[in-house]
Amino acid sequence: EVLRGDAPVLVIGLGRFGAACAGELDRLDREVLAIDGNLELVQKWSDRVTHTVQADAKNIDALRQIGAQDFQVAVVAVGSSIEASVLITANLVDLKVPQIWAKAVSQSHGKILARVGANHVIYPEREAGERVAHLVSGRMLDFIRFDDDFVLAKMYPPKFIRGIGLNESGVRTKYRVTVVGVKSPGKPFRYAEANTIVTNHDLIIVSGTNSDIERFAALDR
Ligand code: ADP
Repeated sequence: EVLRGDAPVLVIGLGRFGAACAGELDRLDREVLAIDGNLELVQKWSDRVTHTVQADAKNIDALRQIGAQDFQVAVVAVGSSIEASVLITANLVDLKVPQIWAKAVSQSHGKILARVGANHVIYPEREAGERVAHLVSGRMLDFIRFDDDFVLAKMYPPKFIRGIGLNESGVRTKYRVTVVGVKSPGKPFRYAEANTIVTNHDLIIVSGTNSDIERFAALDR
């Protein structure tokens, strides 16, 4: 099923995570309906998000009145109360919202959310922690890991690929890593090609599986 790119999004919970998500969706010109039980938060965000409503999302009738069943996408951004998070997710499943993203604070919380019917479970603390580990290790300057074990990373190039064409370096055959782009100081980003030569002060963007990228990032630089 292909979902419309501009489908309005229902965001439940305007804590740090939900507010960031709703605010960013708003910047992306997405229509958002944000629900929180806390009136102060609802008022605080009312001028930054298309619609904000005070309601208890644990109550399915309240959700129905708001029209939650008409949304194609919902984000459950409640973490501090696992009971509320699970009940709200179950309500959205009962209302047949087809795409439910839910934030989990622990592995078991995530397992319950998936069992109840969340389509996507997000672990913000775990993901941020792993990301920071990669950055702190000094091997990568930036790091994004997608669901399906596909990684994009920014790093200084290992010695063996410097000064020769990428094809010649054998980076792809030896390390199963693809150099996607190159950034030389003071110059714009450019896409890497077979004959692109990476020099000493360049930064590279590479893609591959997590383990391949980690192995590649550990090479002598
Ligand atoms: P964060 O860690 O991202 O700040 P919290 O779990 O602390 O997230 O915040 C969750 C938000 O969800 C709070 O603003 C809280 O008022 C709201 N919330 C919690 N339970 C409900 C509920 N049953 N209905 C609506 N909003 C809720």
